[in-house]
Amino acid sequence: MSSVIEKSASNLNLSMPVQYLKGVGPARAKTFAQLGVKTVGDLLEYFPRNWAFAPDAIKINQMEPDKTVTIVGLVESIDYQSYRRPPIFEAMLSDDTGLCRIVWFHGGFLQNQLKPGQVIVASGKVSLYKHQLQMTNPKFLVVDEKTHQPEQYFSGGVYPASAKLTSRQIRRIIAPVLDNLNDLVPEFYDTACLKKMNLVSRSNAFSWIHLPPDETKLTRAKRRLKYDELFLMQLGLALRRYRLQHFLSAPPCSYNQKTDQRIRKRFPFLLTEDQNSVIEEIVRDMQEDKPMNRLLQGDVGSGKTVVALYAALLAVANRTQVAIMAPTEILASQHFISIERYLKNSKVGRVLMTGGLTGKKRNELLRQIKDGEIDIVVGTVALLQKDVEFHRLGLVVIDEQHKFGVHQRLQLRKQLTPHCLVMTATPIPRTLAMTAFGDLEVSIIKHSPPGRGTVVTRWVARHDRQKAYEFIRQRLKAKSQAYFVCPRITSVEENDLLKAATEQWKNLATEVFPEFNVGLLHGRMPSLKKQRIMTEFRKGKIDVLVSTVVVEVGVDVPNATVMVVEGADRFGLAQLHQLRGRIGRGQAKSYCLLLAESESETAKERLEIMTRCNDGFQIAEYDLRLRGPGELFSTRQHGLPDLKIANIIDDYELLTLARKHASELVRQDPMLTGPEHANIRRVLLAKFGDSLGLADVA
Ligand code: ADP
Ligand code: MG
Repeated sequence: MSSVIEKSASNLNLSMPVQYLKGVGPARAKTFAQLGVKTVGDLLEYFPRNWAFAPDAIKINQMEPDKTVTIVGLVESIDYQSYRRPPIFEAMLSDDTGLCRIVWFHGGFLQNQLKPGQVIVASGKVSLYKHQLQMTNPKFLVVDEKTHQPEQYFSGGVYPASAKLTSRQIRRIIAPVLDNLNDLVPEFYDTACLKKMNLVSRSNAFSWIHLPPDETKLTRAKRRLKYDELFLMQLGLALRRYRLQHFLSAPPCSYNQKTDQRIRKRFPFLLTEDQNSVIEEIVRDMQEDKPMNRLLQGDVGSGKTVVALYAALLAVANRTQVAIMAPTEILASQHFISIERYLKNSKVGRVLMTGGLTGKKRNELLRQIKDGEIDIVVGTVALLQKDVEFHRLGLVVIDEQHKFGVHQRLQLRKQLTPHCLVMTATPIPRTLAMTAFGDLEVSIIKHSPPGRGTVVTRWVARHDRQKAYEFIRQRLKAKSQAYFVCPRITSVEENDLLKAATEQWKNLATEVFPEFNVGLLHGRMPSLKKQRIMTEFRKGKIDVLVSTVVVEVGVDVPNATVMVVEGADRFGLAQLHQLRGRIGRGQAKSYCLLLAESESETAKERLEIMTRCNDGFQIAEYDLRLRGPGELFSTRQHGLPDLKIANIIDDYELLTLARKHASELVRQDPMLTGPEHANIRRVLLAKFGDSLGLADVA
């Protein structure tokens, strides 16, 4: 082992800084750090981005079309033809058997690299062009004619490198470390398990990913490493869930038919089948003395608020308090208004806590909450502030809409352990539910309550704008109301957004719809003014509401049957679907008009999907596919280690396997104290740190 490391370090292990490796000094260690590699463990997980396989070099006269081969030869001449489409860079290569043309499309950059007189090794595909053999877009290296050994260049990994540290240098530094894999990466699973799951050993996997003997072995190495990565993630989540369930206690709610009937009497309609089955799951959770940790998914308008209120009333019936939290004040007050509607003449004490509330009034309210005089408190996440103390908090409902504030959820859970119901209107694709929300139970409302009108969505091009206005005018004359949503803009452009919204408002009010009442709503308005405008719109005093995206959350105005989204190409699919959920809330048919001109293919695809698809779950899957998981979902953001090799979409099958395996393991040995699990435990602790509570029993 001593051959791998410099004298100063005694022992090669995963947490050893790379600086002590042979060939790495302080300067290179810095360069490595910029690539995210600090320790030997990081280095082993610094996987190649690409792999090159080259058979032994052959002679030019042995080349055959359609084969990938490696040749070594002298650059006789070069020629850059920039006028061609695409521009090509051409070199003639010779050896003692013949001459071969090599072509690189878009090869302008090669003008500084290749010169006549050099010897190069080139590896690439042979084709027939105008009856002559040529090699196209090969990988190549300029070599020292006397000492070169092609296989040294072309087998093995191609690492994401930097100017200061080439892929080849990285390969040289890693190679000796690979001789010590048996000690560095001990096996996780027993032989029977490896066999059952058709996995290669961990040491083989690490060896083959860096230095693959052949393509089959490379594939098997990748599979094993992906599996481990997903397995560790799922194990972390399973342990977290286990901890919530076994170390925290919550007030159990008793439940009987009488309570159920009393609660149901509050609703002027029969609950849907989906609502009922979700309530059943929630009730089952809340009867336990361990905290519920459930995610309630359902499209906008599917009836989640009603379900949440059911849970709230159950908690109240059990003499505990409920906190209902929304991301914005508008949404919080919407919740409050709809709760009020159901709770008319009820003795349940409820209050809306807004940021505007200060001084004496606020203090009095805080006292009432603390003394348990108030049963349901509705507010924004500001309810988490430390000075809000509850007498006996039994349930927390968090309406996250389309924001997934996992951190807030965890933070809350540290302080107290009430039952917890998180609601979201953005359907989370299966894959995400298993990862980001892997520690939550999931309930889904698939079908919306009856009596909701359909929404017809149309993509309107610029030259049809007047027609769209005319159409809207007819709807307004028929006493409908309309939303105009202004384009989504980044914070840098915030002032412009305000200007655009204001201008659009003026234009609509004076030029387009002078005969109607046009109102303006934007995020910078004082909260009272916003509320006033919303009230006027709800009461029908305002016909057309021009707004920035603040309406994207929680507004319920059944008479609004038209929505125009300006610059619709600038919104993501999920967001458009959210917006659209604001209409179609009454019986009447509603219309969503997407105004957009876009060159971008994905924008076009998004708009096109919107016009033909109304199913939130399907849209979420499209969204995930169009944007990729990276943008929608970063593991790190959720307190999980980043995935380096696996991908939750492409490796869905492995993910499912790993998830099952992880939960079996936690059932067997929840603290992973068995000696046969020591290796897994060590790696898990290194990856997740202390957040799993494993260290408690170390
Ligand atoms: P969400 O919170 O999922 O957006 P809400 O709970 O606000 O949905 O419900 C949307 C609308 O549907 C509300 O006006 C509500 O009164 C109505 N609603 C909810 N459940 C039912 C039901 N079972 N039958 C009829 N109408 C319902
Ligand atoms: Mg709602």
